[in-house]
Amino acid sequence: RVGLTTKHIQLWLQKTNEKIQENKTYLTELDQAIGDGDHGINMARGFEEAIKKTAESDYESPSDLLKDWAMTLISKVGGASGPLFGTAILKMSMSVKGKAEINYAELTTAFEEALAGILQRGHAAENQKTLVDVWSPIVRFLQENTAFDSAAFTNQAKEAMEQTKDMQAEKGRAAYLKERSIGHIDPGSASSFYLLQSLSEVIEK
Ligand code: ADP
Ligand code: MG
Ligand code: MG
Repeated sequence: RVGLTTKHIQLWLQKTNEKIQENKTYLTELDQAIGDGDHGINMARGFEEAIKKTAESDYESPSDLLKDWAMTLISKVGGASGPLFGTAILKMSMSVKGKAEINYAELTTAFEEALAGILQRGHAAENQKTLVDVWSPIVRFLQENTAFDSAAFTNQAKEAMEQTKDMQAEKGRAAYLKERSIGHIDPGSASSFYLLQSLSEVIEK
């Protein structure tokens, strides 16, 4: 059963931050292959700042916490990823406004709105080798199910991330490489995987 409270969201942020800090070099290497090599640095800084910012307050609701998390990513991360992840989390915050706990259906809606925000902001379609290629399948996965299966959720996110390897980039910096962008996992899809894997771990508990 999914029943995400403010505490769960805090844990989600913490777990994601841990994975991003641990994999900062890996994320940067992915971005060195097809971008400008700053993705690990961008994400690590943004999430560290989000941890600092959210440690300052006792949050009344998941929505309030998600909002500070989102605003920190938007304001502290340079590059494409900050506004994209920030918008996703901000849309989730708006989606769950007024709720003390988030159930499965509400989580699904929150993800639908997060994806809509990402699409609105970045104008990427699926198969263009961006984080949309992880978020779109994960939204479909939530829509197609009615209860949360942690292992299946994580697998779906991982598979989607791995599939970006064979894609040719058509958005973002990687698009300049054309066919040379093929053969590398998309950095933003890798960090999206850490975010989703962390959520899955929080719900599993
Ligand atoms: P920058 O490319 O500005 O240096 P980052 O390296 O932090 O920013 O982030 C790059 C990631 O952002 C890519 O791997 C991709 O997943 C994502 N991205 C870039 N452009 C878009 C877009 N238009 N829509 C969705 N995601 C995008
Ligand atoms: Mg970059
Ligand atoms: Mg950059």
